[in-house]
Amino acid sequence: MLEAGMRKTSSAKSLFYMFHSVGSGKNSISSDYFEKFVRRISEWASIVSVRQNLGIVSGSEAAPRPINISITFDDGYLDNYEAVLPMLSAMNIPFCVFVIPSLLGKKDTYGRRYMTGGMVREMARASVATIGSHTMTHPDLTAISPEKVKIEIESSKKALEDLTGFSIQFFAYPYSRATHYAVGLLKENNFAAAFCGERRTYGPGKAGNMYHLGRIGFSQEHPRIDLALSSNVPLFRAGVAIKMVKGRFESSRCGVRETES
Ligand SMILES: [Zn+2]
Repeated sequence: MLEAGMRKTSSAKSLFYMFHSVGSGKNSISSDYFEKFVRRISEWASIVSVRQNLGIVSGSEAAPRPINISITFDDGYLDNYEAVLPMLSAMNIPFCVFVIPSLLGKKDTYGRRYMTGGMVREMARASVATIGSHTMTHPDLTAISPEKVKIEIESSKKALEDLTGFSIQFFAYPYSRATHYAVGLLKENNFAAAFCGERRTYGPGKAGNMYHLGRIGFSQEHPRIDLALSSNVPLFRAGVAIKMVKGRFESSRCGVRETES
C-alpha cells in the first residue's frame, strides 16, 4: 500500500500559476476567460493551496493527483476581490494574492484600482484565500540598498499582519528579481517560501530552494493560455509555457544577484 502510494507521489508534478488582473489591460485576462481556464484545468489537475503544494514539493504531503496546481495573483488588484474571490469561493478553489500595502486603495499607471485595506482583510478571512507580501512599494530589490530591502520586507509583513490578523508566510519578488540578501531576510522573518516568475515544474521533494520557487505566468498577451486549454497531454498543458514559448517571450528570471558590491 505504502509503496503504491509512494510511487504515485513520486511521479506527481507541482506547478504554481501566476496571474495579475482579471479584467482588461496589461498582464490581465478577462474574468470569463479566467473562469473557463480554472474549470478546464480542474478537469485534469488538482488546484491546491500554496501551502498544500509546498507540502507536496517538500515531500511532507501526498499529492492528490498527478498534476497539482496552485493559483497566485500578484499586486492585489480590485478585480481580485470583486471577481476572483466570489468566483473561487463558489467553486471552493484556493488561491493566494501577493499584496503591496502602500498601494492599497490606489490606482496603477493604467488606472486600474488596487484593493482597499478592508477588502484585503475580508479576503484574508475567506477560507479559500491566502494573503502574501509583494513588498511595501514594489521596488526592484536588486536595485535598492540593503537597508531599503530590509524595510520593504519587514514593514510589508508587519503591515499585512496588522491588517489581516494572520501570519504572513509567503512572498513574491517584484519583477521576479531576488537577491541573496533578500532571501536571508525572508528566512529571518519566518517567511516559508518566496516566488518569482521563472517557469518551472516540480516533482515531490524537488523544489530545491523554497525561496526561489518558479511560477508560470498567464495573461492575454501570451498565447500559452490558449495552448494550456487546447492540448490533450496533461503535463504539456500544465507546463505548456515551459516547452512551447521558452525564449520567445519575455522570461522573468529569478537569478539571485548579489546586492553588495
Ligand atoms: Zn508585481
